[in-house]
Amino acid sequence: MDKKSKSTKRLQAAKEINRIVFEYYMECSQAKAKGIPVGWMPPMNGAIEIFYAMGLQPVFPENWSPVCAAFGLAPQNFEISENMGYSIDLCGYLRNIIGYVHGPIETSQCILGNLPVPDFLLSPGGGCVPVMKIFHALERRFPDAAVFRADLPQVALNDIQPHHIQYAVQEIQRLISFIEETTGRKMDYDKLEEAVALSDKACALWDEIMSYRRYIPTPFSAAEIGIMFVMVTRQGTRIAVDFLEKVLDELKDRVARKQGVIPEEKIRLFWDNIPLWYNLGLFNYFEEMNGVVVAETYSTAWSIRLDARDPIKALALKSLKSYPLVSCVSMDNRMDSIVKACKEYSIDGVIFHRNKSCLPITLGQMDIKRRLEEQLQIPSIIIDADHMDERNFFPAQFRNRADAFMEMLLAKRKATS
Ligand code: SF4
Repeated sequence: MDKKSKSTKRLQAAKEINRIVFEYYMECSQAKAKGIPVGWMPPMNGAIEIFYAMGLQPVFPENWSPVCAAFGLAPQNFEISENMGYSIDLCGYLRNIIGYVHGPIETSQCILGNLPVPDFLLSPGGGCVPVMKIFHALERRFPDAAVFRADLPQVALNDIQPHHIQYAVQEIQRLISFIEETTGRKMDYDKLEEAVALSDKACALWDEIMSYRRYIPTPFSAAEIGIMFVMVTRQGTRIAVDFLEKVLDELKDRVARKQGVIPEEKIRLFWDNIPLWYNLGLFNYFEEMNGVVVAETYSTAWSIRLDARDPIKALALKSLKSYPLVSCVSMDNRMDSIVKACKEYSIDGVIFHRNKSCLPITLGQMDIKRRLEEQLQIPSIIIDADHMDERNFFPAQFRNRADAFMEMLLAKRKATS
């Protein structure tokens, strides 16, 4: 077991994700030379469709962090941000991007080209605190960039009322006016409708892909979760839709042939919290033990629908709903959604990733663990690690706990079969 490793991909379509990642970042690094205005923004909101409809280049600093982790570039960025005084306990996404913009962005060419300096920043007024703080730091680092300060109420999904939606609609309209003024480009509302329709299609395909993981044996494991890249960076485009259609076709074919991820699927697992981006190969450890991670918390972020007939309202709703789907969820809702997933995906065991640098998604794991054991008799394990920082992951400790957990699940399976 290494600190860093890559997962084994089984889906042909999923292997294409490397090309899509490469092309997206090439597009980013060439944007300035082509005269395309560049805006940096947080993921999971209604701005991406506006960007693609207006022919602008969206850049997602938060998404750049897992890419840095996967390519082994995160440690140098951590060193820079820690030397600036940022605590090692802070979110790894935040520490990575702050280190990156104060170092490598100016001095080196990385494997995917460097991120282009922003012409404008969309600074969020919601989401978790580190997401907001990333943008406060970016405002100071790029003083020449125009800044749009978004202001959305942070409301739980069930509490969203008409006045919240009305306010979010005004914020989307204010954002469009800001971008028009900053870039000199006019919004084409037909293109916006098209982009929203494409996002809706991508989200529908995403849900369908996830639903195929319910089959036994499952045709898709968490080892291929990198396909999520298109949901972060390519919503509102045909690129996401075409790619997800290919993934879905392949899953349908695999299900028809009863071809699982591994030859003999014995244990079905749920993963809570963000994966270890520097070590997606961890999922292969379970597969070698005849276990497959068939569902996880993170993938629900894209379980949303958009009505393209009223694109502004659709984007307002998306902006209100996206964060409460994953990182700003009440304890009760978080518990309910994991219990529901355990039933729907026929889960035998749950892996709680106690993520040192992401508190919003780690809070409450002990309570959920207890409820799963009491209500569904589903055992679980807690793995101490970090989604970004390999220094907080200890392979020997992981192996010790995971071996015992898998042996117990396999013995339980044997006893009941
Ligand atoms: S939800 Fe977690 S990982 Fe995402 S930005 Fe917030 S603290 Fe970081």
